Amino acid sequence: MRRRIAVVGGGPAGLTFARVLHRHGHPVTVLERDPAPDARPPGGTLDLHEGLGQLALEKAGLPAEFRTLSRPEGQAMRILDVDGTVLRDWRPRPGERANPEIDRGQLRDLLLGPLDVQWDRGVTQVVPGSRDGVLVRFADGRQETFDFVVGADGAWSRVRPAVSPATPQYTGVTLVETSLDDIDTRHPDLARLVGDGSVAVYGVNRGLTAQRNSGGHVKVYARFRAPLDWHTDLDLADAEAVRSNLLALFDGWAAPVLDLLRHGGAFAHRPLYALPVSHTWTHVPGVTLLGDAAHLMPPLGAGANLAMLEGAELAEAVAAGPGDPDQAVRAFEERMWARAAEWAKITTSGLARLVSPDPAEAVALFDQVQPA
Ligand SMILES: Cc1cc2nc3c(=O)[nH]c(=O)nc-3n(C[C@H](O)[C@H](O)[C@H](O)COP(=O)(O)OP(=O)(O)OC[C@H]3O[C@@H](n4cnc5c(N)ncnc54)[C@H](O)[C@@H]3O)c2cc1C
Repeated sequence: MRRRIAVVGGGPAGLTFARVLHRHGHPVTVLERDPAPDARPPGGTLDLHEGLGQLALEKAGLPAEFRTLSRPEGQAMRILDVDGTVLRDWRPRPGERANPEIDRGQLRDLLLGPLDVQWDRGVTQVVPGSRDGVLVRFADGRQETFDFVVGADGAWSRVRPAVSPATPQYTGVTLVETSLDDIDTRHPDLARLVGDGSVAVYGVNRGLTAQRNSGGHVKVYARFRAPLDWHTDLDLADAEAVRSNLLALFDGWAAPVLDLLRHGGAFAHRPLYALPVSHTWTHVPGVTLLGDAAHLMPPLGAGANLAMLEGAELAEAVAAGPGDPDQAVRAFEERMWARAAEWAKITTSGLARLVSPDPAEAVALFDQVQPA
């Protein structure tokens, strides 16, 4: 009899897991809370690294499609100081494909391909060890049983409590995100400032980054150290109030940099949370976690990459048979924990340097990680 396998969450981790299993001929049920693929904006561009996200797409049989969709020119990175002086202006050499960018929506659609996702199936609880396997409870009151349940449901995972009591903690850094559309026609000066990839400006305990997505869409992230309740006197739904607040926070910065905030549309508030750096758990037969559910860390370009590679590797482990499938999952967990702990250390110290009292730290970090 085939094992009944479910993955909770249709993000990068869950979809890569499902797609690689599908490639190996194994049926899998994808349970996603969103009512439809385009129910909410998909978020900003992702750089997929060689050996991580790109390797996952190879395991999914999708490297050619990624080549077509991705933007190698999006690897370009410019750093300014708060006066607008260009400190670094790095552009990829022709053929450089270490970290090409792809829109999240494009990546999602690429992974979705032939998968039959069950939309509008928010999971509330997962109970391992029930008589008929692992019990999954849904927000609509229904329940279903599977042999193996994978929690790929992100930062606030409802599957995680089945294996671990850990909860994400606030890092002390908050992002406020806005975006600009049709930048090349509507704001040509800002289009030049952002270039083909990203522009970043670092000040004392704060920074601004703008990233080009496809179709002239640019995401802007204001990043600053603040207590979690920094906005108690601010209506976060009032875009003009948030804009004024941010312009005051970045007061004195070069006018073109501030124009990124002046021309932004709606603002989204994203306090950054993380799980403990070496988050592990005692193995629970029939349940495991992937991606942010397993190891939420500061967003410094690793989370989706790890999530995808883990999804692909777990699918390969599950598909490998014969042998004890639970043993294969245990071995996978050991590998995932070790790799994620390394990245969690890197991204935690990276966040401390990007949003630090000394802006030179952020530039030094860039020099350390950027290819020559
Ligand atoms: C501003 C920002 C920029 C980033 N940039 C990068 C980058 O450049 N490169 C990179 O590698 N990473 C980046 N990251 C990190 C990356 O977004 C995450 O690590 C990645 O999305 C994790 O994938 P995931 O599939 O584990 O979780 P998610 O992407 O969070 O997907 C989880 C899915 O589960 C669904 N879900 C949630 N709860 C339930 C439930 N109860 N029942 C059913 N479904 C549920 C959600 O709707 C969602 O579809 C960035 C993060 C942020 C915040």
